[in-house]
Amino acid sequence: MPELPEVETVRRGLQPVLEGARIVRAEARRPNLRFPLPDRFAEHLAGRLVASLGRRAKYLTAHLDGGLALICHLGMSGSFRIEDEGGSGVPGIFHRERSKDAAHDHVVFHVETAAGELKRVVYNDPRRFGFMLFAEPGRLAEHPMLAGLGVEPTGNALDGDLLADLFRGRAAPLKSVLMDQRLIAGLGNIYVCEALWRAGLSPRRAAGSLATAAGKPSVRAGRLAQSIRDVIAAAIEAGGSSLRDHMQTDGSLGYFQHSFRVYDREGEACPRPGCGGTIERIVQNGRSTFYCPACQR
Ligand SMILES: [Zn+2]
Repeated sequence: MPELPEVETVRRGLQPVLEGARIVRAEARRPNLRFPLPDRFAEHLAGRLVASLGRRAKYLTAHLDGGLALICHLGMSGSFRIEDEGGSGVPGIFHRERSKDAAHDHVVFHVETAAGELKRVVYNDPRRFGFMLFAEPGRLAEHPMLAGLGVEPTGNALDGDLLADLFRGRAAPLKSVLMDQRLIAGLGNIYVCEALWRAGLSPRRAAGSLATAAGKPSVRAGRLAQSIRDVIAAAIEAGGSSLRDHMQTDGSLGYFQHSFRVYDREGEACPRPGCGGTIERIVQNGRSTFYCPACQR
């Protein structure tokens, strides 16, 4: 499943084409993805202007004129590509290569961009775990997919005070609390492992240990908040530079250039200078956790 930085990279890749564009025509080539497409999907979209393209956690959101909003999730294998007479480009750089097989092109938006160019924005999804849904005008934040989501891990709102507030009294391990989308939205397995390594904190440590009895943040809480924001920002940055490198080409897919320090590195030496530890893999809540028992306490 794409992680938040990949979804943000897709958003940034689509933005120059879609923002301010008019949807001339939409094509739904099958009635469903993970869920049925909305009733009269193509008809509702035809003629609408795309006011802005946003993201909430791992959901892409498009605000259309008339107040209608489109919510899109890429699922396991969804991707967009942009086509025109002059070639094509793939917005979004993924850790794993994405399909370009036309048999899996399920939704096509024919748009006239703000600059007056005619483009096709094609949604491809071999496994069809992705979805597209409408939110009623003005009710995007209350949509069932978005309503219960916690704070974004990208902005200034995420600090030691906030973590202390979320963590106080919780005996559950840090790893599982950080993965809880109702608390922090859009943090996935990879970046939780990476952020905990950066902060030097064990994924097994009780989350509540980062807050004092009075609910004040410990020094560790501040360090963890900074690590989460840094690791996500660095990945979005890496995605952005990959996007610049690959959008110019013939549409051949790039790979996400971000290199992980602990994720998927079981048995390798810990990259922290002077640590000397070895990365281990444990299973928490059915998911692999990678960490260094020597420097993550
Ligand atoms: Zn280490």
